[in-house]
Amino acid sequence: MAYDYDPENIFARILRGEIPNKTVLETEHCLAFHDIRAQAPTHVLVIPKGAYVNFDHFGAEASAEEIVDFNRTVARIARELGAAPGEGGAGYRLIANSGENAHQEVPHMHIHILAGRPLGRMLV
Ligand code: C5P
Repeated sequence: MAYDYDPENIFARILRGEIPNKTVLETEHCLAFHDIRAQAPTHVLVIPKGAYVNFDHFGAEASAEEIVDFNRTVARIARELGAAPGEGGAGYRLIANSGENAHQEVPHMHIHILAGRPLGRMLV
């Protein structure tokens, strides 16, 4: 996989504790925190602790343990924030901008969890 990870990207610096964040949950393999420019009442970012540039990189190279921890953490946060449809919540949207056309701003794999208002048919 031809990815060059920039260890100075802002999420790498958050993981090293060099930049503060509003942590929602930390697990062995990932960190979740509130987006500083929230676009919905709930806007949380979940990032793996490993050095993955985007979803493509993560999906191809992360271990099964990292991927399971990541997916479970995303679902757990949505549930704990009251958004899970299976628990009476009104639902949520997951977004993983990956690469140029998706306007990925930070080159460290992350998923946005958006909830707390009707989100429309698509966010583009
Ligand atoms: O998916 P994309 O890379 O475009 O989004 C990056 C997100 O990271 C933005 O929503 C931005 O507000 C957020 N961010 C943050 N804290 C920082 C820098 C960026 O929550 N220190």
